[in-house]
Amino acid sequence: MISEFDLIKRHFQRPTRHTELGVGDDAALIRATAGCELVVSTDMLIGGTHFLADDDPESLGWKVLAVSVSDLAAMGAVPKWALLAIALPQPREAFVAAFARGLFDCADAFGIDLVGGDTTRGPLNFCVTILGEVPQGGALRRGGARPDEDIWISCQPGRAALGLAQARGLTVLADDGRAECLAALRRPQPRLALGMALRGLASSAIDVSDGLLADLGHILERSGVGAIVDMTALPADGLARFCSDAELVRDSLLAGGDDYELIFTAAAERRAEVDGLAQRLGLPLTRIGRVTDEPAGSLSLREADSRLTIPVRRGYDHFAS
Ligand code: ADP
Ligand code: MG
Repeated sequence: MISEFDLIKRHFQRPTRHTELGVGDDAALIRATAGCELVVSTDMLIGGTHFLADDDPESLGWKVLAVSVSDLAAMGAVPKWALLAIALPQPREAFVAAFARGLFDCADAFGIDLVGGDTTRGPLNFCVTILGEVPQGGALRRGGARPDEDIWISCQPGRAALGLAQARGLTVLADDGRAECLAALRRPQPRLALGMALRGLASSAIDVSDGLLADLGHILERSGVGAIVDMTALPADGLARFCSDAELVRDSLLAGGDDYELIFTAAAERRAEVDGLAQRLGLPLTRIGRVTDEPAGSLSLREADSRLTIPVRRGYDHFAS
């Protein structure tokens, strides 16, 4: 059986780009850029909760790092270093090799050095800590939204939820939508270029991991404001063309997690700049509502017939019963 040390050396030790000392010592030495703040975040993926034990390990490797990259994207930061803690029931080398392939695909795509971690025996579980940089004072935060600002979302929220419904056999998506929605679920694309470009333009930002309304709710709470989301403005067509179940489409859009799109707010005077950014990045950005001066966290939907409704479900909560 392969030893822990050989497993690490063989699969997790790679040349680095911007690191003094990486995997192999008692701790890593990283070179921080003068004038920048360090931005740090941790995410855990637990077998049975965030993924199933028979999920493709290569996709898991991509995803565990991609969700961390997404957190830094939501801060407007540049990810540079990651640490990986893994627990495995048995050291199945083929699994680890495939996992590492996916992880380094993502690391290479976003210029990240894996600089350390921990490997132990235990129930299948992955934990990534990511470090990045942002120019001093330039980070995007959840707390900056102000009444009358626009609320925007990137690309197409809801695809991962449709992909999950398909994977669980709860729906049958049209052939051309199946691959797209499963890819959104298994290989999410963090909106890193967008996050960086939103520095100085967005007043607040968050990535959608638990659901559009749930994560927008976090902005509203932290900013002490409310919001009205316009149902007719939401990008529903990108889901409806694969799925005829209108209820599922609506719920996936509003409360589906795991897409890692960015929600952000910006002053109405800056609409043209946001539209220009969408053009420049080749990434659709949709204005979906407006910040209000209602009590912190209050959220209503403007339906197609102009009525205001209160959403029944905002998203996923690990501790909700
Ligand atoms: P120590 O016992 O000193 O904590 P370890 O034996 O746990 O060191 O790890 C040896 C080296 O391998 C360290 O540099 C550690 O950061 C790195 N490492 C361990 N597991 C992983 C992993 N899964 N991915 C990347 N680096 C790892
Ligand atoms: Mg040590």
